[in-house]
Amino acid sequence: MTLARSAALFRAASQIFPGGVNSPVRSFGRVGGVPRFMARGSGPYLFDVDGNRYTDYVLSWGALAHGHAHPAVVDAIRTQAGLGTTFGAPTELETALAQRITHALPSMEMLRFVSTGTEAVMSAVRLARAATGRDVILKFDGCYHGHADALLVEATLPPGIPRAVAERVVVVPYNDLAIVERACAFIGDDLAAIIVEPVAGNMGLVLPRDGFLAGLRALATRVGALLIFDEVITGFRIGWGGAQGHFGVTPDLTALGKVIGGGVPAAAYGGRRDLMSLIAPQGPVYQAGTLSGNPLSMAAGIAALDRLEHEGFARTSAAAATLAGAVGDIMRRAGIPVRSHSLGAAWGFFFSDVDVVDHETAMNADGSMYARFFHALLAEGVYLPPSPLETAFVSTVHDEAVIASTIDAFAAAANALPATCFARA
Ligand code: PMP
Repeated sequence: MTLARSAALFRAASQIFPGGVNSPVRSFGRVGGVPRFMARGSGPYLFDVDGNRYTDYVLSWGALAHGHAHPAVVDAIRTQAGLGTTFGAPTELETALAQRITHALPSMEMLRFVSTGTEAVMSAVRLARAATGRDVILKFDGCYHGHADALLVEATLPPGIPRAVAERVVVVPYNDLAIVERACAFIGDDLAAIIVEPVAGNMGLVLPRDGFLAGLRALATRVGALLIFDEVITGFRIGWGGAQGHFGVTPDLTALGKVIGGGVPAAAYGGRRDLMSLIAPQGPVYQAGTLSGNPLSMAAGIAALDRLEHEGFARTSAAAATLAGAVGDIMRRAGIPVRSHSLGAAWGFFFSDVDVVDHETAMNADGSMYARFFHALLAEGVYLPPSPLETAFVSTVHDEAVIASTIDAFAAAANALPATCFARA
């Protein structure tokens, strides 16, 4: 596999972009090696600038429900591009996409389009603070909610985040309701919101324990705080109704992104009508955006969601389960401890001999083994997330033949792994 052009482009990019990239995880920092520079995508495949083909399970970090350049989405974009890409004035398309979203996620009685997941979550948090008149946000270690100041706060203070902001954020382990309860008691009546990825997708794929989300719902209600579900990954990915539909737990506010733009930037936040009515210009909570709800993104999003509603989730869910099961079986046969699972079109695995339930257990999984498997798969033409702490996806165009050839690649790549090298990183 030649990488000469990617290597040359990465050298040039490194002169002009920090780390050579425009979003950190693209740099292959956790797996090493040269990031592949992509030339084009088609269906389930990516083609790099050296002419190598990869079956893509990153899918722009979950944004592409139908793979690359799906004809229905391309047609919608092409048509709209000819009619204008942004007007800075309302269009019918915004209402049409919003109606599809509220139909799928009825808790989003009203919503507002923005351009990125970061903006969606940041705005939902502002609204929660305004609606409750409280300041403190409770979030979970290992959940990612974009890069707004408050939402980057972890156990340690990241550079550039004011101490005063961090003091208003409490971070607790995922999946541990008892600690959340203690934290709520400690925070008292200054808790504005509990924010959570209802299925965690940014520490690898980590499922909520039975009762965890319902417990958060009950606690938030009891202490007068709002419950915010960050469904930027899970929305239209684990099922038509997102995690809230799947688990039957209703948040006060929801953030969406990725899939709803059909591969063009779009995100949204929304929820209870009484809360969303506080947003400007209807209410006093300011939030705006030059390209929010632009017709290009709306047209692409409508095409993607219509296709998704038509296709359903049965095939993608089965494909994701097959892939997760295959990794588990192949590693078990090789004597390598692995934990793998899927939910809807999302799937993932950890090189771990204990169940991964939170950030600590995710970080204890063997990252160097993941890096070896990742590169062995890349050589076989399979593109997984270049980090063990991300989630893989399948799209509606990953058909049975594609899945079968990926499983063959798993088996070949597993042969490249030394069975005895498992050690906690
Ligand atoms: N929330 C979650 C759960 C995410 O996974 C992401 C991005 N991966 C974001 C928010 C931020 O979205 P964006 O990158 O569009 O700002």
